[in-house]
Amino acid sequence: MCEKNNQIPKSCRLCGASQESQIIRAATVFGGRAEHNFWQCRSCDAVYLYPVPSIEEETYFYKKEFEKFMSSRSGQERDWSNAEAHIQTNQDQVSRRWKFLAPFLEPGMDILEIGCSSGFMLNAFREEGLHCVGIEPSGEFIEFLHSNGYETYQTLELLKESHSEPFDLVVHFFVFEHIRDPFQFLEENLKLLKPGGKIIAEIPCVNDPLTSLYTIPAFEKFYWSIAHHYYYSPKSLSYVLDKLDLKYEMLPEQRYDLSNHIVWMTEGKPGGQGRYSHIFSDELLEKYKQDLKKNWLCDTIILYVYK
Ligand SMILES: [Zn+2]
Repeated sequence: MCEKNNQIPKSCRLCGASQESQIIRAATVFGGRAEHNFWQCRSCDAVYLYPVPSIEEETYFYKKEFEKFMSSRSGQERDWSNAEAHIQTNQDQVSRRWKFLAPFLEPGMDILEIGCSSGFMLNAFREEGLHCVGIEPSGEFIEFLHSNGYETYQTLELLKESHSEPFDLVVHFFVFEHIRDPFQFLEENLKLLKPGGKIIAEIPCVNDPLTSLYTIPAFEKFYWSIAHHYYYSPKSLSYVLDKLDLKYEMLPEQRYDLSNHIVWMTEGKPGGQGRYSHIFSDELLEKYKQDLKKNWLCDTIILYVYK
């Protein structure tokens, strides 16, 4: 048995509430070391990584290890081995996201995607007639993005040095939870927008039923990732947005289906998405998701911020 030597945070990383309000939410961090835990603040509801990895550790991780790390987590449904395969196996994400993006898209708009990965969303935006710019910190896909004709930068700082035109839309999907300082990040996003511009983001919801409704030990060992600084609920996300005095809306979204949940319960593994679709009707699958969303016991938050 290895002893776990917990380092206790002095206060909440998000709202600064005192140590007495902090409890351990997850004692196992995927990809982390023994001292890492996810803590939960009983005041603002933030769930956060502690101790905090250094900026050097983090930079190295995104430059060299992120794709390998994601590939080790993704089961069979996403292929991280090369850019073309990554684009192909993410088309289901494009069509799912289109429902909440389409009402805001118009040909000719300037859009920035932060964390554009292989560019599978940029391709869809470009087909819609939008002018696309991407930020991608990983070295893995950057040459591929350039060869595909995209203006891309490895960091926000590099973008600001070379691109002074503001955007109609700033979008990011599963990026916000990786951000060390969410307040500063959102303020930077707003500065990049034209007046009347919008931020649209997709963020994991810590009320994911696999951790907040059901008890699945294998999922607990998998879910809490060293790549994330925070896991947000509607309450903790509202805390950030209200503190910045922003105008916003949040929608509940459920990405994973009933089959995925059953496979977690029976086999303790990811990759079950769609497994029983030949048995379950579309109505059943949709109703299951709706009931989870209605109760905000769902795996994803869609966030709109209006400048
Ligand atoms: Zn807090």
